[in-house]
Amino acid sequence: MGDDEGIKAKLSEVTDRKNGASGIPRQIARMIRTLGVSPRAIGIGSIGPIDITKGMIGDTPNFPFKNIPVVEPLKDEFHVPVALMNDCSAAVIGEHTYGVGKGIDNLFYVTMSTGLGGGAIVDGHPLGGKDGNAPEIGHIVIDPNSELVCGCGCRGHWEAYSSGPNIPRYAELLLRGVDLKGSLLGELMGGDPAKLTSEILFHAAKQGDHAASLVVDSVGKINSVGFADIVNVFDPELITVGGSIALNNSNAILKPINDLIGDYLINRKPRIVITPLGADVVLYGGLALASKLARDFI
Ligand SMILES: [Zn+2]
Repeated sequence: MGDDEGIKAKLSEVTDRKNGASGIPRQIARMIRTLGVSPRAIGIGSIGPIDITKGMIGDTPNFPFKNIPVVEPLKDEFHVPVALMNDCSAAVIGEHTYGVGKGIDNLFYVTMSTGLGGGAIVDGHPLGGKDGNAPEIGHIVIDPNSELVCGCGCRGHWEAYSSGPNIPRYAELLLRGVDLKGSLLGELMGGDPAKLTSEILFHAAKQGDHAASLVVDSVGKINSVGFADIVNVFDPELITVGGSIALNNSNAILKPINDLIGDYLINRKPRIVITPLGADVVLYGGLALASKLARDFI
């Protein structure tokens, strides 16, 4: 990191869902002005899918509108170069530039949060794909006959088992017919399955609750399959893991992956660690993108 590089200020806001697609770049521009800085370049790590040639965020699940233009409106507003990247692709570049991935040319980043996503650097090259959405690892198929349907509409995707909002749905499936009366999990849920959250499950498992442990173990096994798929396809030296589910439950997430991954591997097992950049890993990615643009622009 150069002397002038690093995160100097942060501002977060809930995404504007009221003013249509064009409200998003207006919100970003207003936030940049609020910080009182004149940007030399802008790097964006965004939810996907994105369309990198059009500089847009595409048809993203759980969002009220699609085709959100970001690159052109910000270029017009600030007259500086603007780069858009899928958030996990930005994160792996952040890890490579500022984190534990420095000097590692085969690096993978996994986020485990509301969704599951990945970013890859292979032989020193960040992987983009035709629209900028490689590698969408959350949508690896675990079981084509699964009862669990992913937010994207497909059956049996990894994300349908292991993302924050989906772990409780997987738990419902696993605990069907199980009497939770008198258990810690039953008590924390207040007898209402709709009140079950990932947070409650991980907490109860940590306290030794039998049913919650069954769920956390099953999620761990699915995750070890997903991580093995990553290693078998991309052959990374290091995988760093972030996102709120992993950051808040680091041992419960990493231990089963490290214990079980060998059962599914053909390639040599890489190191798998929590990202030291924490919740800022995508932000560091945006910074790395902007720094490169600013250097190239001068
Ligand atoms: Zn999916």
